[in-house]
Amino acid sequence: MPDTTDFTRRKLLHAAAAAPLALGAARALGQQAHGTPLEGNFTLPDPPAQKMRWAIVGLGNFAVGEAIPGFIDSQHARMTAFVSGNPAKQKDLGTRFGVSRFYNYENFDSIAHDPEIDCVYIILPVGLHAEYTIRALKAGKHVLTEKPMASTSVECAAMIAAAKQANRQLGVAYRIHFEPTNVRAKQLIDGGEIGDIRFVSADHGFNADPNYGPHKWRLQKALAGGGSMFDIGIYGLNTSLMMLGQDPVELSARYIYPEDDPRFREVEGGVEYRLRMANGVSVSGSSSYCWSPYISQQRYMGSKATIFMKPATTYDRNTISVEGNGPTREIEAGNPLTQFQNQLDAFSLAAKANMPHKTPGEMGLRDISLIEAIYRSADTGGEIVKL
Ligand code: NDP
Repeated sequence: MPDTTDFTRRKLLHAAAAAPLALGAARALGQQAHGTPLEGNFTLPDPPAQKMRWAIVGLGNFAVGEAIPGFIDSQHARMTAFVSGNPAKQKDLGTRFGVSRFYNYENFDSIAHDPEIDCVYIILPVGLHAEYTIRALKAGKHVLTEKPMASTSVECAAMIAAAKQANRQLGVAYRIHFEPTNVRAKQLIDGGEIGDIRFVSADHGFNADPNYGPHKWRLQKALAGGGSMFDIGIYGLNTSLMMLGQDPVELSARYIYPEDDPRFREVEGGVEYRLRMANGVSVSGSSSYCWSPYISQQRYMGSKATIFMKPATTYDRNTISVEGNGPTREIEAGNPLTQFQNQLDAFSLAAKANMPHKTPGEMGLRDISLIEAIYRSADTGGEIVKL
């Protein structure tokens, strides 16, 4: 039987003897490793000690799927704390994301004594936004709260007052203002690419599944504040007003859903609305919890051309098509997924300077007040509401 051990040992010894020769030959050709200065246009993150430190409140579907991953590429924000009612999930996510400060809904106010938290991100069901925002502001922290801002305009006003009282910033997480495709569309509109806007249409909705956890609370008024208009219609409302750069002077609306559908005992399943601006421009919008597939589309009709965006407000694949005034063009913008880190960075910088965020509490209050007016009109079968 051959001595394989000896054979292998001899081969290894032979290779080891040859190695310095090969290295010497490489060096003779000038191939020697050495350091170089950093060149190129890198956007580098702040050192960790300079980043704003964030606590995340509510570790649900959107927090884990979209908001938390946004911190990975953030330049100015890092997570230091999780607030949750589920300790096992909290610990598991803490291990995965390097977060080790844990709070629950009962001891939440003690974040006031935690110097490792500058900002608080509220990602709870809507009916809890006002309470946790106000508690965080009273604890001396800046607050970014998810959309829609709160269940009522009265709650929104109380949140704004609490921010003023605490001398802290309050923002609403309207991510579309930081999404490259929509930012590009606004540049095109403001730059005159489609001429004067004459009409906007905005349609957003999906089919609500009463058996799916994150949809369950959306069908309960106490936790959701309202129905499809609160949850998904708000994208069309807020994005249209962002593009137009003005607020409506009157509106009308009608409910559009089967009234015998058992899902919609507490909140509306769909609305169509019409906003009218002082300069005569109209926005025609719709929202629904009872159509398929998931729809997110915006159309801006101008005197020279039309911008069509479908999808318009998703996380990862928004598009711009410009029709008219020449051949149809598909306009490229940056990666939509950067909207999450862009939003965190913008709020972090605003909080650090204690200056208002681009999408402040006042914008959230405006939108909830408009939705309340939309419901008032729909309740009367479509009467015009002056604003
Ligand atoms: P989920 O139901 O998935 O998560 C909500 C989390 O809130 C739960 O996981 C739980 O976290 C906590 N929570 C505390 N009390 C309650 C309660 N009574 N009922 C249910 N959950 C409770 O919802 P989403 O993640 O879909 O939505 C959360 C927020 O994010 C909402 O404001 C929503 O409008 C917003 N959102 C924003 C989106 C955007 O694109 N900007 C997209 C989707 C949602 P824990 O177990 O850790 O305590």
